[in-house]
Amino acid sequence: LTVGVPLEIYPNEHRVALTPQNTALLLKKGFARVLVEKTAGAQAQFLDEQYKAAGAILVDRDELFGSTDIMLKVRPPVFGQEAEKVKEGSTVISFLYANQNKEIVEALQARKTNAFAMEMIPRISRAQVFDALSSMANIAGYKAVLEAANHFGRFLTGQVTAAGKIPPCKVMVIGAGVAGLSAIATARRMGAIVRGFDTRSAAREQVQSLGAEFLEVTIKESGDGAGGYAKEMSPEFIEAEMALFMEQAKDVDIIVTTALIPGKPAPKLITEEMVSAMKQGSVIVDLAAETGGNCAVTKPGEASVYKGVTIIGYTDLPSRLPTQSSTLYSNNITKFLLSISPGDGRFAINLDDEVVRGSIVLHDGVRLPPAPRPVPP
Ligand code: NAD
Repeated sequence: LTVGVPLEIYPNEHRVALTPQNTALLLKKGFARVLVEKTAGAQAQFLDEQYKAAGAILVDRDELFGSTDIMLKVRPPVFGQEAEKVKEGSTVISFLYANQNKEIVEALQARKTNAFAMEMIPRISRAQVFDALSSMANIAGYKAVLEAANHFGRFLTGQVTAAGKIPPCKVMVIGAGVAGLSAIATARRMGAIVRGFDTRSAAREQVQSLGAEFLEVTIKESGDGAGGYAKEMSPEFIEAEMALFMEQAKDVDIIVTTALIPGKPAPKLITEEMVSAMKQGSVIVDLAAETGGNCAVTKPGEASVYKGVTIIGYTDLPSRLPTQSSTLYSNNITKFLLSISPGDGRFAINLDDEVVRGSIVLHDGVRLPPAPRPVPP
C-alpha cells in the first residue's frame, strides 16, 4: 500500500501530516511506499532531503493524488482542488468536520473513499496516543500565552530591580480543559499570577496543582456532562460567572478564554462592557474564536484593538508553531494508521473497533451515522 502526504494548501496552514521520522517508521512497518509532495514539510522545517533520506519518494501533486492509497492530511481535502482528485477507493485520514464540510464529504463519497476524521477519535484511554485534538489544544494554550505576552507591554513575572519594583502580571484563564490547563501552566512558568475557572468539578484540583487560584461562584451547579465533557449551564449560573468575570476584568491584565461545549456554539462570557472595564494595554486571547468566540468583540482570525484592549482571535494557533504541531500530529496519525493497518499490506477496516467506528465517516463511499458516544459510569 502507498501512503501519500500532500502539501497543505489551506491558507496559512504550515503543518504537515507526516514527519521524516514517521516516514521511516511506516516503511519499516511494511508500507510499500511513502510519497511526499515536494516542499510539503518545508514550512514546518522538514526538508525534502530529510524525507528522501527517510526513504520517501518526492513527487508532484498530480502523481501524489493519482497513486496514493492512504492519504495522510492535516486539513480536510480542499473542495474544488483536492477532494475530487483523491484516488478512487482510497482512504483519507485528516481533520474533517463533516457537518461543516458537506461538499467535501460528498466529493469524497463520489470517489468511494474511506474517510476518517481525526477530531472524532473517541477520547478513551486506549486512544490517547491518537488524540490530535488534545495535542493541538495543548499547543494552542501555550501559544495563546506567548501571543498575549507579545502584545502586552510589560513582563509577566514580577521583579525587584534597581530601577523599581515590577508587579507580576495577572492572568485569568476561563475553561480549564486541555488548552486552558496548558495556558495556565505556561503563564505560571512565565511568572504571572494565574486564576482559572471552569464549570466541571475535576478542574479545581487540576488548576490548583499548577499553582493557580481556582475561582468560584456561589451558585452550586455541576458542569459535568457526558463522557467528562462540559454541559450547557443554566442561565443563572452563566449570570453568576459573568458577574465574577466583570469583577476580574477590572483587576487582571490578560484573559485567555477556552470555554467550549461539544456540539454547541461557544458560550459568550466576556461582554463589551467587561472589555471596556479592563485596563489600557490589557490583552484577551479568545481560543473559542473559531466556534463563535467567548468574547463579544472578538474578530475571528484577527488581532484587533477595542478601547485600548488587544483581542486576539487567531484560529490557527497550532499552525503558528508548525514544527511542534506537525511532530505531535504526525505521531498521532501514524499510530492511528498503524492501529488500523499493521503495514504488511493488509488493510481491513474493523467496524467493531470502537476507535475505528468512532472516527470513520465514509466506508467505501457510504456515509455512516455517527457512533454513539461513550457514557460515563
Ligand atoms: P473543550 O475544549 O471541549 O472545552 C474547554 C473547557 O471549557 C472545558 O474544560 C469545559 O468544562 C469548559 N467550559 C465549558 N463551558 C464553560 C463555561 N460556561 N465557563 C467556564 N468553562 C466552561 O474541552 P477539552 O479540553 O477538549 O476536554 C475537556 C474534558 O475532556 C476534560 O475532562 C479532559 O480531561 C477530558 N479529556 C479526556 C481525554 C482522554 O481521556 N483521552 C482527552 C482529552 C480530554
